[in-house]
Amino acid sequence: MTDELSRRFDTLAIREGQLRTELQSHGDPVFLTSSFAYGSAAEAAARFGGTEPGYVYSRFSNPTVASFEQRLAALEGGEQGVAFASGMAAITATFAALLQSGDHVVCSRNVFGTTPVLLTKYFGKFGIGSTFVHLTDYAAWEAAITPKTRLLFIESPSNPLGDVADIARLAAIANKAGVKLVVDNCLCTPALQQPLALGAHIVIHSATKYLDGQGRCLGGAVVGNKADMTEVLGFLRSAGATMSAFNAWVFLKGLETLRLRMEAHSRGALAVAEWLQAQPGVTHVFYAGLPDSPHHALAKAQQRGFFGGVLSFRVRGHDGEGRAAAWRFIDATKLLSITANLGDVRSTITHPASTTHGRVSEDERARMGVTENLIRVSVGLEDVEDIKADLARGLAAL
Ligand SMILES: *Cc1c(COP(=O)(O)O)cnc(C)c1O
Repeated sequence: MTDELSRRFDTLAIREGQLRTELQSHGDPVFLTSSFAYGSAAEAAARFGGTEPGYVYSRFSNPTVASFEQRLAALEGGEQGVAFASGMAAITATFAALLQSGDHVVCSRNVFGTTPVLLTKYFGKFGIGSTFVHLTDYAAWEAAITPKTRLLFIESPSNPLGDVADIARLAAIANKAGVKLVVDNCLCTPALQQPLALGAHIVIHSATKYLDGQGRCLGGAVVGNKADMTEVLGFLRSAGATMSAFNAWVFLKGLETLRLRMEAHSRGALAVAEWLQAQPGVTHVFYAGLPDSPHHALAKAQQRGFFGGVLSFRVRGHDGEGRAAAWRFIDATKLLSITANLGDVRSTITHPASTTHGRVSEDERARMGVTENLIRVSVGLEDVEDIKADLARGLAAL
């Protein structure tokens, strides 16, 4: 991103969609109201019918939520955003709004664990098929597309192993087949990666992670063109799963510092990854910021030269005792929070095979590379020397 673009991003992050009432409050007001009153019955009818602009009912229209939607859409370079109560609600709405019975989705195997459950267990009940392929196996993506396919769904970088997909290449595959590429941009956020500019059609967020950035609120969002977002908003209006105005206000504050935080998370994660790589107790570090990562060149180009705050690594364990070694490591840390959440100012540490990927079969875990000796760290914004010192306690316990 050039300096000019970077200034534009920062200004949008702080000013876009800003609300100011006639009271001239300088900070964004929070509209904690379920509904809006009208001057007359005719005005009420016009608002409900959509012939007159204005707010109606906070299930689908609220000024604070709209402000967040506008600001996020601007940062992603999309026409319109629709906010939801959680990231999963945003993903559910995207599928429900854009798919019909008989349609088919090709999904990366390396996505947030709940997404495949949603597709297979729930959307499968309504006759929507899904096929799972490896994130970077482009031939497999092309082969999996059928005449019934409507959406391709990915996360890049993937979690926990940080595989990076060539988004422009997948967008070209989608365009050739006349289908849409949906990118869950949770791990990079628009501060580091703008999938729509790379050709993706729809971006999804769990705002719960970096958009908040301080582990306070659940939220989600979808960003895309007006036609698609009209469908997604229509689903929200009928199905609920609405973002609260208070949460929208927290996320607005989060967006204001997003780029600064993402760059700081990235710098911290790179320092931790380099340090881990030099430790004898660590057999492999997965982080695209490391120059010897197979994903380094692509991530560097696609992610503005920053690599995000999440890394993972394998620890040395005697045969068959990978889990015991990883658990000893985790239990010996004192500063890092043992939790599966990520994207917080607080560093977190987790054992994917027994937590986030605990419901995945052993075979599937092996195929994904989520081994028993794998540990994931979401590097927060504490002093990096303290984070390393804490990881050193883990290493000493191996
Ligand atoms: C957490 C997460 C989700 C789900 O978001 P919630 O806000 O927890 O519903 C979806 N995708 C990714 C990549 C996530 O990390």
